[in-house]
Amino acid sequence: MKKILVSGGAGFIGSHLCTRLINEGNYVICLDNFFTGTRSNITHLKGNPLFEFVHHDIELPYFREGIDEIYNLACPASPVHYQFDAIKTIKTSVVGVLNMLGLAKRNGAKIMQASTSEIYGDPTVHPQVEGYWGNVNPIGFRSCYDEGKRCAETLFMDYHRQNHLRIKIIRIFNTYGPRMLPDDGRVVSNFVVQALQNHDITIYGDGNQTRSFQYVDDLIEGMVRMMNADEAFIGPVNIGNPNEFTIRELAEKVIQLTGSRSKIVFEPLPHDDPRQRKPDISLAKEKLHWKPVVELDEGLRRMIDYFKEYHP
Ligand code: NAD
Ligand code: UDP
Repeated sequence: MKKILVSGGAGFIGSHLCTRLINEGNYVICLDNFFTGTRSNITHLKGNPLFEFVHHDIELPYFREGIDEIYNLACPASPVHYQFDAIKTIKTSVVGVLNMLGLAKRNGAKIMQASTSEIYGDPTVHPQVEGYWGNVNPIGFRSCYDEGKRCAETLFMDYHRQNHLRIKIIRIFNTYGPRMLPDDGRVVSNFVVQALQNHDITIYGDGNQTRSFQYVDDLIEGMVRMMNADEAFIGPVNIGNPNEFTIRELAEKVIQLTGSRSKIVFEPLPHDDPRQRKPDISLAKEKLHWKPVVELDEGLRRMIDYFKEYHP
């Protein structure tokens, strides 16, 4: 039985990861400050002898012995949330990451960083390969997240080179699924909630920008495979679904699958909104024997069922 720490474990992805790790017989310590995570995301784990929740902000050091692995997920991920307190987002991505790396070093633990496709910014290379250095605005509204996450990758690499820490870096592309908050602000949850309530569907810009949407179960499988992969393979590795859709196509799909009476309306595009995004997942296929298996229609159906049941 491994003792595994998941920071951000009460969030959307973190709660699915905690569940998976416990189901495999591991002891899981979930660290979260409830900034965007919720108690209800982890209610099903409460009372489980393999689960421990610690209310903690990773901006502060955390002292604990006997930890085998750390998944560092703590960081708001929706543009609305990470721009709410931009300075705190940077502190979480830099000071918080230093604290998690320090904890890994003391414990001799293996540590994974939940990095992001935002590393590539508004990409000029399409699809995005891991070797692409990105096109990121260092002074814009998204920079607190993009540059914070880039600095986190740098810190991971330097701890690996300087301290021989065992590290793993994954770059996650747009992921959706049950336990996203209705007011999360990201596009899939926004559209599903709007459609189910027959409210206007808000497309920002002309809707021709693209994203590639990954269902959460596929991501969790990729994360766990990466953590357990050969130690020499540290990444960064893209984990995402390469099927690319325009935001307008996504809106139409959601309306069709929900049978909604919603109309599409157009609102201003947020600052520095990337025009296109699609992962090249050749590396993950080769090294992890991983590829996503849940197609968008199926994933959206599951997401719609979840919102009907839990947020009617
Ligand atoms: P989320 O907002 O649901 O989860 C983030 C969790 O981290 C929340 O539970 C929040 O309370 C916690 N948290 C934030 N700051 C913290 C701090 N200082 N100390 C302790 N806990 C803190 O978002 P998510 O979609 O589950 O994302 C999880 C991770 O995956 C994030 O690091 C995010 O950057 C990364 N990621 C997600 C996506 C995606 O599409 N969902 C894409 C790329 C990267
Ligand atoms: N978006 C939209 N309507 C919404 C929310 C988002 O059109 O209600 C757009 C947003 O401008 C972006 C895309 O959908 O072009 C994905 O946005 P999200 O916030 O989900 O993620 P990110 O921009 O970080 O990929």
